[in-house]
Amino acid sequence: MLEISHLSLHYGRHLALDDFSLSVGKGETVVILGANGAGKSSLLKAIAGVTPADKGTSISFNGRPIHSLPPHQIVEAGIALVPEGRGVFGDLTVDENLALGAFAKRARAHANDSRTFVYELFPKLEERRRQYVNTMSGGEQQMVAIGRALMSKPDLLMLDEPSLGLAPVVVGDLFRSLGQIRQRGLALLIVEQNVKMSLSIADRGYLAEAGRITGEDAATSLLSTPAVQRAFLGGAA
Ligand code: ATP
Repeated sequence: MLEISHLSLHYGRHLALDDFSLSVGKGETVVILGANGAGKSSLLKAIAGVTPADKGTSISFNGRPIHSLPPHQIVEAGIALVPEGRGVFGDLTVDENLALGAFAKRARAHANDSRTFVYELFPKLEERRRQYVNTMSGGEQQMVAIGRALMSKPDLLMLDEPSLGLAPVVVGDLFRSLGQIRQRGLALLIVEQNVKMSLSIADRGYLAEAGRITGEDAATSLLSTPAVQRAFLGGAA
C-alpha cells in the first residue's frame, strides 16, 4: 500500500533522513521506534508532503507516486497525519474541528458516517461536541486530533507520538482506541516512544537511528530484541 524507497531529506545542509526504505501493507500497523532526533517526525512529514524530500526519493501509495504532490492531494489519496502537538483548533468546538477534517473531496459524502464512527470510538467527544477544544484535557484533545484525521476517510492513518504528555491511564485508553481503528481495516503508521504499548498493537516495527533505518522485524520479535531492550526498555534481557 505505502512503499518508500531511497527517502532522503535535508534541512539546509543537515541530513535528517538518509536513504530510508520502508513499507506498510493494506490494513497493517507499523511502528517506528527511535530516540529523539532519529528522524521519525521528518519521515511522517515527508510522506504527508509537508516537508519536501530530496530528489531521488520514491514514495508510492496504492501504486501511485505521491512524493511530488502537495499535502491536500496526499489527503485526497487517502493518507492522514495526526501531527506531534495535535494541531487542533482550540477556539473551535469539537464538532467544528471534525467538520474541518471532512473537507477533502473523498470525505465529504461520508462525513455523517465518519462522524458516527468517531463518536462510537470516543463517546466522550459526543458528550462534549459543543465544547471549545482549548478547554479540554490533553487526552481529549488527542481524541479530537485523531477524530479530525479520521474524518478525511483515510486508508492510512499516521500518528506522531500520540501518547506524548498524556497520563498513563489515558495512554492505555488511547491505544485501545487505536486497536479499534486497526480492526476497522485502516493501516496505521505510528511514531512512538511508548515502545511496549505501540508494539502491543503493531504487526511490524522499524528501528531508526540518526536518520537511518537500522532494523526491522515483527512486533512480537522486536520486544525481545537486545537493541530494543537496551535502547528503550531499561536494558533487561
Ligand atoms: P523527536 O522525537 O525529538 O521529534 P524525531 O526522531 O522525530 O525526534 P526529527 O524531528 O525528524 O526527529 O528530526 C531529525 C533531525 O532533523 C534532528 O537532528 C532535528 O534537529 C533536525 N530537524 C528537524 N526539523 C528541522 C528543521 N525544521 N530545520 C532544521 N533541522 C531540523
